[in-house]
Amino acid sequence: MRDLSIYIHIPFCVRKCLYCDFLSYAASAAEMKSYVNLLLRQIKAESVFYRDHRVVSVFLGGGTPSLLPAEEVGGILRAVRENYRMADEVETTIECNPGTAAAEKLKDYITYGINRLSIGLQSTKNEELARIGRIHNYETFLNTYQAAREAGFTNINIDLMAALPGQSIASYRESLERVTALLPEHISAYSLILEEGTPLYDRREQYHFPTEEEDRNMYQMTKEYLGEKGYQRYEISNYAREGFACRHNQVYWQRGDYVGFGLGAASMVRDVRWSMPESMGAYQDYVEGMPVRVDNLSYRHFPGAYVLTIQEQMEEFMFLGLRMMCGVDCRTFDDKFGQEMEAVYGPVIAQMMSQGLIQKEGGRIKLTDRGIDVSNYVMAEFLFE
Ligand code: SF4
Repeated sequence: MRDLSIYIHIPFCVRKCLYCDFLSYAASAAEMKSYVNLLLRQIKAESVFYRDHRVVSVFLGGGTPSLLPAEEVGGILRAVRENYRMADEVETTIECNPGTAAAEKLKDYITYGINRLSIGLQSTKNEELARIGRIHNYETFLNTYQAAREAGFTNINIDLMAALPGQSIASYRESLERVTALLPEHISAYSLILEEGTPLYDRREQYHFPTEEEDRNMYQMTKEYLGEKGYQRYEISNYAREGFACRHNQVYWQRGDYVGFGLGAASMVRDVRWSMPESMGAYQDYVEGMPVRVDNLSYRHFPGAYVLTIQEQMEEFMFLGLRMMCGVDCRTFDDKFGQEMEAVYGPVIAQMMSQGLIQKEGGRIKLTDRGIDVSNYVMAEFLFE
């Protein structure tokens, strides 16, 4: 029996943030309802493909999943439970934006078995939030956070962002201080990436963005400050108190099996990768064209299904695994690929070690602090031409 993680994409937001290039948009209640019906159909029909899997994590992401009426969320999770074999303990996360889930909704989530809440705060400074077009302010976030605790959530992630327009090292530190004072179990801290085609990109001349060096300093400070407060960095941008690392995300980095339901959602099962269409019309056509239940459903049924070559699997093993602070296990590589990591990557490993960017420890290879600073460079070295 193999472990399976399920991702469910909810592509709706109150309105678009100025930096956002994710698959999300504002929609009417009727549009949301008909989308959920498509999701339910996909979840049920594809379950035959996963008879020898058991579900260890479910992640409702977006977009803003907490925009859905609570009963729709309940219906989606019921469909998963009724059609899939569930592990005894399943990490079930929902992403929630401040102000989109009142106390009642949060209590309903608990009754549906949701045991992890991920709140998109980004900054505790209202002027920084306004500059990137977030719908909430810090006070709204505090209400949502408090309500989540009162509803019974004991595993909460808070998302923060560095390198925001107009952000200083001091204001970023203040965000870190305020957030850690709330004692969440998990903190994600990513740097803003200015994507072409977003309104913030078009207005970039109007703002002062932190320099690359300031961005690096923010990263360094995040690690040191959160370390002092008892949060262990377990991935380049993710920190957790002991026992609260996100199981679902680790599956991506460790290349476990995961299936994505919904618009644009990506899947990878047994080294086969595919993605759902990104346009609603095409997604609807896909779901409506699906057989209701076909016992011999194969991956060939999925749009764009592609079997990764051994080289691509090796590359992913390295560059995804190195994102985690525990690094990659050499024996696991040898067993999986029938070749020693040293035989495949020996020269690259030697070169990276001589530059002080990776280290070997207990049969594992991991990034050093310097390597984390230039992780994109290190990971690119593990790609074959
Ligand atoms: S809440 Fe997230 S997904 Fe929605 S518009 Fe803002 S950044 Fe994009």
